[in-house]
Amino acid sequence: MTIDAIVIGSGIGGLVTATQLAAKGAKVLVLERYSIPGGSAGYFERQGYRFDVGASMIFGLGQNGTTNLLTRALSAVNVSQEAIADPVQIHYHLPQGLDLKVDRVYEKFLQNLTAHFRHEEHGIRRFYDECQKVFNCLNNIDLLSLEEPRYLLRVFFQHPLACLGLVKYLPKNAGDIARRYIKDPQLLKFIDIECYCWSVVPADMTPMINAGMVFSDRHYGGVNYPKGGVGQIAQKLVEGLEKAGGQIQYQARVTKILTEQGRAVGVQLANGKVYRGKRIVSNATRWDTFQQLLPAEQIPHNEKKWQQNYQKSPSFLSLHMGVKQSVLAEGTECHHILLEEWEKMMAVEGTIFVSIPTLLDPDLAPSGYHIIHAFTPHWIDDWQGLAQTEYEAKKEKAAWRIIDRLEKIFPGLDAGLDYLEVGTPRTHRRFLGREDGTYGPIPRRKLPGLLKMPFNRTAIPGLYCVGDSTFPGQGLNAVAFSGFACAHRIAVDLGF
Ligand SMILES: Cc1cc2nc3c(=O)[nH]c(=O)nc-3n(C[C@H](O)[C@H](O)[C@H](O)COP(=O)(O)OP(=O)(O)OC[C@H]3O[C@@H](n4cnc5c(N)ncnc54)[C@H](O)[C@@H]3O)c2cc1C
Repeated sequence: MTIDAIVIGSGIGGLVTATQLAAKGAKVLVLERYSIPGGSAGYFERQGYRFDVGASMIFGLGQNGTTNLLTRALSAVNVSQEAIADPVQIHYHLPQGLDLKVDRVYEKFLQNLTAHFRHEEHGIRRFYDECQKVFNCLNNIDLLSLEEPRYLLRVFFQHPLACLGLVKYLPKNAGDIARRYIKDPQLLKFIDIECYCWSVVPADMTPMINAGMVFSDRHYGGVNYPKGGVGQIAQKLVEGLEKAGGQIQYQARVTKILTEQGRAVGVQLANGKVYRGKRIVSNATRWDTFQQLLPAEQIPHNEKKWQQNYQKSPSFLSLHMGVKQSVLAEGTECHHILLEEWEKMMAVEGTIFVSIPTLLDPDLAPSGYHIIHAFTPHWIDDWQGLAQTEYEAKKEKAAWRIIDRLEKIFPGLDAGLDYLEVGTPRTHRRFLGREDGTYGPIPRRKLPGLLKMPFNRTAIPGLYCVGDSTFPGQGLNAVAFSGFACAHRIAVDLGF
């Protein structure tokens, strides 16, 4: 069989590319180094608990509009995923008693926030309304490849106002818009953490397009948890891929992208096996793609420039806990963010992110127990060069520091702990195949919005990148966007 596209990796970006292409009739082969699909949206099981590896606040599973890209990707290959609506996106526990919930209902969220900042009522509404304007532009158009002129022309003629709106916001960052309307320094810090909790940079460095998407879609399509755990999304995409004639191989680690006369023509696996394809797609990060799978000394000029603009964000220390039901008070929400001092928002172990998916889907834990996944930024450098015993002791110490802090919002956590597994940046690197276990690229300095983020084509003919180190960045719905765009561009290139 002649393979049209070989996709390296079965993260959501890779799987959306593969399923979109297979749905158009292309012959697709996905090669995944791990034993199951999903990457950072995967899962693992221990003692009756099914833990999400990473993502658990899921956008894109809504039913309406055009930005519900996970729902659309699944239905393109005739599969679907039951989703459980989350009534509150995040319960924030912030400095100076700023305790507030982001309700799914927009007006309720505005009321909750305004209750803390009465004097900024007008500014709050104007900022979040402006985010909605961005979202309305996005939610009006089919989201495909911005590198394909005929598509761009078509959407422009169909939706000129939406397109002009997006062009206006493309070089902007959320912080600039927030400061236009808001003056209160504590409220501006709140906008920072609203951005930081998914972009891992403050508002000034967070593209307005992404902010518009997140701050509005949570009240439109909403945050929805996939029944059976986040891993179901990838499993269903694989089911759809195979139904559409595509193939996936697990434990198939690509070690080399093969080139001939400068063009990508195939891949080589760790076991020496070679596959050739008309197009090669890398779902590995750009650092892994251009420094590991291709000779690092031949890194293309534009990739060097990209690395001058973007750096690897830290990885995480992750605590996967099984806890007695009694630890969680009645009315506890699924997602929490804990930060005690604003100055530490971006520091190692500053912000703690918490997800309790069993509040939405109790079947993920044994009866009478819940899952708590808590994670906080950590750099890989702090975990290198340790003897095994030192590594284990350091993990344990760090885990108890986090549990002690979480006791404030979940009193009795320590006593109610039934299971604990701790992952470090080394774990993320090992199981997710991501250099330094990074969460993804972050700007090195303030950049003009999304303008510097690369699309799917690369300087190497025949080679495309997809996933969180391409436009528009991290998050399942964002990498699904990148997958739609990548597949669209390849389909046009191959004449499908
Ligand atoms: C702790 C944590 C919490 C998060 N929380 C959220 C959240 O709540 N909501 C949200 O939307 N997003 C969240 N994210 C981000 C989101 O999970 C990622 O942005 C997204 O899953 C990345 O998808 P991807 O397709 O780019 O790549 P990945 O998920 O990294 O997948 C890449 C795949 O390629 C495979 N691979 C790599 N190299 C090779 C190779 N050489 N050969 C073969 N296979 C290879 C890997 O094994 C992996 O399966 C979170 C991430 C983390 C780590």
